[in-house]
Amino acid sequence: MIGSVTVVGLGPGDEALITPEVTCALAVATDVVGYIPYVARIPSRDGLTLHASDNRVELERATHALEMAAEGRRVVVVSSGDPGVFAMASAVFEAVERTPRFASINIRVMPGITAMLAAAARVGAPLGHDFCAINLSDNLKPWEIVERRLRLAAQADFAMAFYNPRSASRPHQFACALDILREECETTRLVIFARAVATPEEDINIVTLAEARAQMADMRTVVLVGNAATRRIGPYAYTPRRAG
Ligand code: SAH
Repeated sequence: MIGSVTVVGLGPGDEALITPEVTCALAVATDVVGYIPYVARIPSRDGLTLHASDNRVELERATHALEMAAEGRRVVVVSSGDPGVFAMASAVFEAVERTPRFASINIRVMPGITAMLAAAARVGAPLGHDFCAINLSDNLKPWEIVERRLRLAAQADFAMAFYNPRSASRPHQFACALDILREECETTRLVIFARAVATPEEDINIVTLAEARAQMADMRTVVLVGNAATRRIGPYAYTPRRAG
């Protein structure tokens, strides 16, 4: 029996934002592997085993998925949003790289709607020109790299999306990130705090950089920063398609 690992994104929260392709993969899975709150989104059924694990054990989780696939099971690894954006897809390939016998396993990655795109669509088109995405967590990289990327992105006038902006274990870093933006950008720069997008707790605030406060973000928030031309139009925010 030939097993498989399918790495899927469940989108930002709303069922309607899960792709039909992902729904089909889940319908034929024998096992679902993932972080506890994401696995909780999968309804249980006969023939399906749910394997929920804690945060920060991505490599172990990926290895477990690959081991089950090697035994012939159809394993789906779930992430929120898109699995390739600060999520499980890279962890699965890291595990394959470490364990050569996994290289023969059939691996597929199915895209999902990532938080920044769901948030951008809610407010209009703030990512309508060049933009970048930065993970503000220093769990897997030194904070100095975060600071450098942030500063250079601001200098290059990219719009930006910040994932993992602020957590209880590192409450001060997001304030530092805002300070860097204040050094590089004008005070009227638009900053969008999009919390729990596409869930019942959704809360979206568009403010200027002068008004932005670190407490406006938590781990369920994706923060979008406009480029120099991003502007408000009624309740919307958008970035023109042209620059220069
Ligand atoms: N793979 C996910 C990102 C995982 S990192 C994706 O593509 O969306 C976790 C971070 O994603 C959170 O700290 C937050 O910044 C962002 N995020 C995930 N879901 C979100 C949602 N529904 N609303 C706002 N931000 C979200």
